Amino acid sequence: MAAEPNCVFCKIVAGEIPSATVLRTEACQAFLDIGPLSEGHLLVIPVKHYTRMEDMPPEELAQLSRELPGLGRALVEVTGAAGYNLLQNNGSAAGQEVTHVHFHLIPRSTGDGLGYRWRPQAYPEGRADQILARYRDVLAG
Ligand code: AMP
Repeated sequence: MAAEPNCVFCKIVAGEIPSATVLRTEACQAFLDIGPLSEGHLLVIPVKHYTRMEDMPPEELAQLSRELPGLGRALVEVTGAAGYNLLQNNGSAAGQEVTHVHFHLIPRSTGDGLGYRWRPQAYPEGRADQILARYRDVLAG
């Protein structure tokens, strides 16, 4: 997958714009988010340009994912955070602004006011079964 000329994260990978990089491997790069939701907020990106998570070859996603436990441990040690969120937005409807796959690791502390307010809903009668059947069909190919 070639670099996208107008992609800010491709430019970071190429070293054309600066980044506060904490880790670089053959497959991925991790750096400080320039607009952190909390101190130590990290982004982890594949070095190749893919727009959405499902565009990535599974092997490349696996290579990136292998770094996540170590990055999570480092985040806790560096920031002293009590926890962290791993967040990955796909599509503008989901809040994706930079169209190069990225994983956020966001340090959290109790009562910090960050995060989604989950509003769980209930399926109307029969709807969950319809959706379940659709998933099974689609995943069966
Ligand atoms: P998203 O809304 O999931 O697309 O998040 C994009 C993230 O990229 C935001 O949190 C931005 O602060 C971050 N970001 C954008 N440009 C840069 C940059 N040059 N260096 C580091 N982080 C960036």
